[in-house]
Amino acid sequence: MGTSGRVLSVDGLDSLIRSISAEGYRVLGPSVVDDLIRITDISGVADLPAGVGDVQTAGKYAIRQRSDGALFGFATPADTWKKYMFPPRVRLQSIAVPDGDEVVEHPPQDDRPVALLGVRACDLAALRTHDRVLLDRVPDTDYAARRTGALLIAVDCHTPADSCFCASMTTGPTVREENAADLILTELLDEHRFLVRSGTEQGAALLEGLATTEATDEDTRAAAIQEQAATDALTKSLDTTGLADLLKQERNNPIWKQVAETCLSCGNCTMMCPTCFCVSVEDEADALAGRDDRVRRWSSCFELDYSYLHGGSIRESIPSRYRQWLSHKFSTWWDQFDTSGCIGCGRCVTWCPVGIDVTESCKTIQEHQGQGLM
Ligand code: SF4
Ligand code: SF4
Repeated sequence: MGTSGRVLSVDGLDSLIRSISAEGYRVLGPSVVDDLIRITDISGVADLPAGVGDVQTAGKYAIRQRSDGALFGFATPADTWKKYMFPPRVRLQSIAVPDGDEVVEHPPQDDRPVALLGVRACDLAALRTHDRVLLDRVPDTDYAARRTGALLIAVDCHTPADSCFCASMTTGPTVREENAADLILTELLDEHRFLVRSGTEQGAALLEGLATTEATDEDTRAAAIQEQAATDALTKSLDTTGLADLLKQERNNPIWKQVAETCLSCGNCTMMCPTCFCVSVEDEADALAGRDDRVRRWSSCFELDYSYLHGGSIRESIPSRYRQWLSHKFSTWWDQFDTSGCIGCGRCVTWCPVGIDVTESCKTIQEHQGQGLM
């Protein structure tokens, strides 16, 4: 693929968005909505958050004005691509008895393919993680329909937030796996332009159709400087050496009570996490209409009912639920899927209403290992 790089102007990016739209893609990308940078439908460069950055730290999020016109000058959007690939609520089937005979209807899939514009390296890793869970074993048909044919246009991150720790999870801030996306862009701000490389044949074909110029040594040097600056700007880190085993070994350590002391069990972290995939399937019956909808909705290990077995829930206390969440992300996910359940995007840190930071929780367990029973 085209790893040497081409240069695309801002107008060229606009043409790219418009041409893939014209090809029938639903283009999703970042935009400012209600003082948040959210992922929404995009029809051109004018929809992108020009000159808007973000401030994200434990329990806090705000947008900020930048002094440049960067289109991707923020860390991660205030929601996830998961919302579109694995939506919060999906109707699986409906059963009606219009004339006494049961009719089962499976809702039609939206067959318009999606193009995801501005995916960060960490979020590409999240998609790969979801692929392992939802495609590689027993494929989830809804996820497979949405994910197959999705066009991925990644943009390297040059402004990590205080919540981010992608380097510790080896997922970012720069896209390293060249085939992880169809196109990979690096935004260069001195003369506003994009260094662009293709990661797949589809990306290469798209690139062929765009007005680009060959990248100069100066372009490549500018991108390398920016990459280094992004890595240097990461303030949060986590030593994951031996962490998966440690979390299992320390499951009865009383320090978990302190770690989860302020947790509200609200489940925000699981809703914002791009890799969490737990769902509940419920029937919504309308007796008067003679109809029953079977609906799948996001669920959370912080729900009391989540661990309900015959006779009651096995994780009644909040610390036991917090331990479940943290241990699954950083430990038992490896046993299930041979990868980490955390890609270091920091969203759970930012969006926790009481500012609980998973990296600090892990560090506390690391510092108190071998100290008694919970
Ligand atoms: S860690 Fe924070 S976001 Fe997660 S359940 Fe507890 S209070 Fe809610
Ligand atoms: S656990 Fe937190 S930092 Fe890790 S992927 Fe989920 S939201 Fe991101």
